[in-house]
Amino acid sequence: MFKKILIANRGEIAVRIIRSAKRMGLKTVAVHSDVDADALHVRDADEAMPIGAAPAAESYLRVDRILEACRATGAEAVHPGYGFLSENPAFPVALEAAGIVFIGPPAAAIAAMGDKLAAKKLAEAVGIATVPGTRDAVPDAETAAKIARGLGYPAMIKAAAGGGGRGMRIVADDGQAREGFRLATSEARVSFGDDRVFIEKYIAEPRHIEIQVLADAHGHVIHLGERECSIQRRHQKVIEEAPSPFLDAKTRGQMGAQAVALAKAAGYRSAGTVEFIVDRKRRFYFLEMNTRLQVEHAVTEAVTGLDLVELMIRIAAGERIPFAQKDIAIGGVAIEARVYAEDPRRDFLPSTGRITRYLPPVGDGIRVDSGVYEGAEISAFYDPMIAKLVSHAETREAATACLADALDRFVIIGPSQNVGFLAAAITRERFRAGNLSTDFIATEFPGGFTGAALPAGQAAQAIAVAAAAQLVLAEKDAGVAAAPAPERWVIVERHARYPAKITRGNETITVAGYTARQEVTTSWRPGEPLFRGTVDGAPVAFQIARDGIGWRLTRGGAVLSIKVLLPAAAAALALMPEKPKALSSRHLLSPMPGLLVSLAVGAGQEVKAGEELAVVEAMKMENVLRAERDGTVTRLCAQPGDSLAVDQVILEFR
Ligand code: ADP
Repeated sequence: MFKKILIANRGEIAVRIIRSAKRMGLKTVAVHSDVDADALHVRDADEAMPIGAAPAAESYLRVDRILEACRATGAEAVHPGYGFLSENPAFPVALEAAGIVFIGPPAAAIAAMGDKLAAKKLAEAVGIATVPGTRDAVPDAETAAKIARGLGYPAMIKAAAGGGGRGMRIVADDGQAREGFRLATSEARVSFGDDRVFIEKYIAEPRHIEIQVLADAHGHVIHLGERECSIQRRHQKVIEEAPSPFLDAKTRGQMGAQAVALAKAAGYRSAGTVEFIVDRKRRFYFLEMNTRLQVEHAVTEAVTGLDLVELMIRIAAGERIPFAQKDIAIGGVAIEARVYAEDPRRDFLPSTGRITRYLPPVGDGIRVDSGVYEGAEISAFYDPMIAKLVSHAETREAATACLADALDRFVIIGPSQNVGFLAAAITRERFRAGNLSTDFIATEFPGGFTGAALPAGQAAQAIAVAAAAQLVLAEKDAGVAAAPAPERWVIVERHARYPAKITRGNETITVAGYTARQEVTTSWRPGEPLFRGTVDGAPVAFQIARDGIGWRLTRGGAVLSIKVLLPAAAAALALMPEKPKALSSRHLLSPMPGLLVSLAVGAGQEVKAGEELAVVEAMKMENVLRAERDGTVTRLCAQPGDSLAVDQVILEFR
């Protein structure tokens, strides 16, 4: 076994790898860019080496610097995590030349699977069904339209070197196929330095189900069952679970056997994932193989009780997989939610900034893998994932309830984050029913995420919680020696007003008036972001913050503004006019920080609703901005090549 390993990554995955390595008694070396000098993975590792400036190309993607860090620290092996260099075949080649072990598959297997076209051909050669489509790169837009038409619309244009859902377009007619070809090609060039694209039939309402495989250097290949990752946004996974609520034993067995066959054919070693797309009739088609540890590996660990990172390290050291296929048992259900720094209410725009409060939930059946701490900075340079929250329980229903409760208790203050959105997604009836498909988010939240509504019972609890919080605050303000807090209040929630009497007993706070009478117990103190306690004996958890003269309570994706006022203040509030909302439909604003790639219109030009106005590139994605209504462009306010701030005006209309 190695004595010291280096982790060529950052964030939650670096932290997670360090955890297993330490448990195995190995020394760990972190590498970091300048902006990550204080990152959690650096703090957790035994040693740390700076490897360059913030942009990944100048640090985490620098093979030479990582080799240098290995030499300087004496690390014998390198775990690449996911992303960055994990699927670059040149990395294991360079490590091997330096006598350092790569904790992952052989370079040849990475290369074979990294090209989606080559991978499809290999899969077909071993008898695995693939999605109907082209076998070779498509040369031009006209051919793209012709092929897509031949396959039948809708079709999907994909980058051969693709990953992370980039360079991928669904097209529904010839015009879209031409445009899709253009966008996918340029996105692929920018993201992967390889602009080859191909076309597949678009499988309607598909489910994404993948098989975790494990192979050692002694020809032993097994699978650890499946994960369903159908809840996606922009072809990127958001919520994953194991096992899939959709598979029957027969399909599961077939998919497992095919995944193992492919891994064998590719000469695979280490942990890997064979991804399939499954249609409504449980017909499944090979999509691609990911030759690395996946983000969502934790759900497999939960249901199998195995540590995949430990197994990867042992396999890299030449050990055999210490069990056989028949020994793998799946226990219970695990669900993972990816917590991102993004704003679900603004079309999920990535968000950055300092995390001023960070209180991850703890408890039975909950695992939080995160790469941040209170005071850490979410930078625009890297993936905006803050943490992965995983629940594990006997049944899917219990795992969902456990995850929902954990999300309600997950306090992250600073950058915008998607905790409320995740809570809203898993409380949808369709999620409960296990009726998943990759269009779940688009169809369940058609206008984007606008917040959720609480069931009536929970809304009443929120009122009682706000009332109790107000009393605690009034008691604190009044001080020990002063008069007791006043009893008579007015509760204002949106346009409703209720007189209420709030009184303190020994253990309980009684709120009378809004509903018949509610009893609240809590040890909450003003300033704490999480209100925990009971309402009429039932445990409650609301995130709570002072909001002007009122309170903002959040839970399950819902946000409630509740004011608990003295009668005089309530009377004054009733006389205040409401602020009018600003109108910006005369301007095309950049929805995110990014680069203005192109303008499709000029000053004086008339545009129709839906027409392309500009392309903005952000996070390596090209986003086409379209006219929301018919109009005339009066002025261009930015030039292609400009970097744009969020809400910066790109052009004006009339
Ligand atoms: P990437 O490597 O960028 O992650 P994948 O090929 O793994 O790309 O596909 C990502 C997601 O895109 C899938 O999970 C699925 O939701 C969708 N997808 C890919 N190919 C198809 C297809 N032919 N039909 C329908 N959806 C697809």
